[in-house]
Amino acid sequence: MRLILLGAPGAGKGTQAEMLTKLYDIPCISTGNIFREHISNNTDLGKQAKAYMDQGQLVPDSLVIELVKSRITQDDCKNGMIFDGFPRTIPQAEALDAMLADLNIPIDYVVNVEVPDELIVDRMAGRTVCPSCGASYHKISKKEDIAGICNACSTNLVQREDDKEETVKKRLEIYHAQTEPLIAHYKAQGKVLDVHGVGTVEEVRAAVKKALGVN
Ligand code: AMP
Repeated sequence: MRLILLGAPGAGKGTQAEMLTKLYDIPCISTGNIFREHISNNTDLGKQAKAYMDQGQLVPDSLVIELVKSRITQDDCKNGMIFDGFPRTIPQAEALDAMLADLNIPIDYVVNVEVPDELIVDRMAGRTVCPSCGASYHKISKKEDIAGICNACSTNLVQREDDKEETVKKRLEIYHAQTEPLIAHYKAQGKVLDVHGVGTVEEVRAAVKKALGVN
């Protein structure tokens, strides 16, 4: 199974990706998480990406595409993968289509998680993330067991620089201008499953599964 999760920043893609990676036993490729890992390891790529990320801007296509190109040929992707936060622009989608066509493994579905902008801004304010393993939490919908500590690896949770309100607004503008056109791109391929992304994590999870035809 090869899936793309589309939706605005904060639409809940990461949370649904965690569920889907277990369901299908395939890895999740989150370009945002990969960049954050590079930043914490202080790599050259991390330094380049951070400047864009902290301002809510997109990292240039060329850097993102190279990263994904080397990731999808790794062994754990042989049964499929879930893309979370990639592609985000038409050139990225076209590059992904070409990469997967070369490997003869086209995308099966694009799950489009729809959430209104007003709700996104509220949601991001309550979101924290583990700087070590990338797990994300939310003060209302997905609380950690011990306040401020990651369930998975016991690291102190932080608020992402790019989850601050002004940055979120800029990210939403960029989403509408550059990422939303991907819905039409994949609709033309007949691959889009629209999912109502408002509700509890469990409700959205059920809606995603229903759209994919699984129980
Ligand atoms: P995310 O965790 O997916 O919300 O990504 C956080 C930030 O990483 C984004 O706001 C961008 O700055 C950068 N980023 C992640 N994925 C991409 C991508 N596919 N294209 C460009 N920038 C990206």
